[in-house]
Amino acid sequence: MRRRLVELLRNKRIVSEAVLGAIGRVPRHLFIDDTAFQARAYEDSAFPISCGQTISQPYTVAYQTELLSTSPGQRVLEVGTGSGYQTAVLCEIGLRVFSIERHKPLYLQTKERLSRLGYSPNLSFGDGFLGLPREAPFDAIIVTCGAPFVPPALVNQLKPGGRLVIPVGEGEVQRMKVVTKSLNGDLSTVDKGDFRFVPMLAEKSN
Ligand code: SAH
Repeated sequence: MRRRLVELLRNKRIVSEAVLGAIGRVPRHLFIDDTAFQARAYEDSAFPISCGQTISQPYTVAYQTELLSTSPGQRVLEVGTGSGYQTAVLCEIGLRVFSIERHKPLYLQTKERLSRLGYSPNLSFGDGFLGLPREAPFDAIIVTCGAPFVPPALVNQLKPGGRLVIPVGEGEVQRMKVVTKSLNGDLSTVDKGDFRFVPMLAEKSN
């Protein structure tokens, strides 16, 4: 089933072998709790997880990961750990992964899950609008919830030459933006089209 999913993503124009290889290795069914949805884990769909959140669609995970254009060993920050599926994909491509989640139960559940599966990202419970100053700067930052605007802290925590991949928009639909910081610190933004995410929320909740 996983091989078929990889072929489907290839047909949808995901070209990075590193990303396709990672999707081919991560057991997505173990990131979904509801058994009804577990059976459909290798469909290219988003599904509900706890705390009213969602596990992103595999195409979206693959596309955002490809847009990060990282190389193994680089430091990447994810905002919105959720199920940990995207986190595991980032680990599989050999990145040093930091991830923030604002829902405590989800943070705790996913921490246990990822360690059980043998992944060792650095997970934090906190507010992604603030980034992770103590671990900055990052080669790349990926936001997996719909942001009302590009948080300045995230831009500040990018290395020169780094990239921020972030869905921006307050309604149902967001625009995927890639913000690149040049070596002299100038910013440029490219728009990559419409996507749908759960909203990025400001306050922590337990
Ligand atoms: N990458 C996840 C996607 C989960 S949905 C996966 O593959 O499963 C987005 C996640 O972002 C949710 O878990 C939500 O709780 C979290 N989130 C929303 N606002 C946030 C914020 N300000 N800081 C950190 N996480 C946030």
